[in-house]
Amino acid sequence: MALTGDKYLTDSQILRPEGDEVTDELYARLKRYEGRPAARSCEGKDLVNEPMIRHWCEAMGDTNAAYRGPGAVAPPTMLQAWTMGGLSGHSGRVSAQDELFALLDAAGFRSVVATDCEQEYLRQLRPGDRITFDTVIESVSPRKTTKLGTGYFITTRTDVRAGGEPAGTHRFRILKYAPAPAPRPAPAPRPPAALRPVAEPPAAVRPRPVVNRDNEGFWQGVARHQLLIQRCGGCRTLRLPWLPGCGACGSPEWDTVAASGSGTVFSYVVMHHPPFPAFDPPYAVGLIELAEGVRFVSNVVGVPYDKVRIGMPVDLVFLRVDDGLELPVFRAAAGEGV
Ligand code: ZN
Repeated sequence: MALTGDKYLTDSQILRPEGDEVTDELYARLKRYEGRPAARSCEGKDLVNEPMIRHWCEAMGDTNAAYRGPGAVAPPTMLQAWTMGGLSGHSGRVSAQDELFALLDAAGFRSVVATDCEQEYLRQLRPGDRITFDTVIESVSPRKTTKLGTGYFITTRTDVRAGGEPAGTHRFRILKYAPAPAPRPAPAPRPPAALRPVAEPPAAVRPRPVVNRDNEGFWQGVARHQLLIQRCGGCRTLRLPWLPGCGACGSPEWDTVAASGSGTVFSYVVMHHPPFPAFDPPYAVGLIELAEGVRFVSNVVGVPYDKVRIGMPVDLVFLRVDDGLELPVFRAAAGEGV
C-alpha cells in the first residue's frame, strides 16, 4: 500500500518561484547539510493508542468506523502525530537542523512557513504499536523568490517504524525566507526638533494578513466594510475562512453572501502571555458564531476582557488599526458585559 497524503498550506501563487533559481555561495554551504540526521533513533512518546485516535477523529470530523472499537486502526494521516515530541522534545534530536537554521537566520532568512507534506504508508498502525523513527535533512533548494519573499525550501524526511518494521515516511517541506518588503506609507512630516523625544522607539506594527489568490476577495470585502462568507456553488454550504474548494462536496465553484453582522461568542480565550509587539494583553480572542451559522476568529472589543462570556451577543464592526490595516472585529451588543 502506498498512498500519498494531502498537501496542505499550499498556495501555488504565493509559493511559486518567480524568476530563476539562484545558486549562490550560501547555497553551497546549506547543501552540505543534505543527508545529515535531524533526529536519530527517536521513540514515540506514547504507544499508538485509542484516546489519541479518538481526539484526532473528533478534531478532523472523521467518523470512519475503521478507527473505532475492537480491531480499530489509526488513521494513516496520523503518522506524524506519533512522532511529535511535545514541549519536552525528543532525546534523539541532533543539532544539524538547528545549525542549518542558524546559518539561514544569520544570512537574514529569518521567517519560516510550512509549505507542504507528503506521506507514504507502508503498514497500518494499531493501538499498542511502539513507534521509532529517524529524521534526515533530505534536500535544500537553490535560492528562490516567491510572493512571500526570497529563501530556500528545506525538506526533511522522517522514516517511521512500528515494532521495528517500516510503517511509513513523512516528508515535511518549509520555506525559510526573508519577507518581500511591504509597500511603505509616506513618512509623516517630522515635528520640530524641540518637540521630538530624545530616543524615539520604533512603533510596533500589527502583523499584516497574508492576502493571496484564495482569500483576496475576503479582504476586498473588508475594504468595503462587508464580511463576505463563501457559499459553495454545488451544495450551497457556507464556509469561513475562505478556501479554494468546498469541504462538503469538493466543488471549486462559489459565490459570496455578506454576513448580517450579528453573532454570539461561541468560545473565547484571554491572551496574557506571551506578549506580542503591537498587542496590549490581556485581551479577548473570540470564536464568533455568526447568525449565518459559520464561525470566525476575531477580537471581542468594547467590553473588558474579563466580561466576555460564551453566548454573549456581539455585532460586527470594522476596526481601523493603522493607516494600512482595517479588521473585522466584534463589539459586545448594547447592554452586554458592562
Ligand atoms: Zn459544496
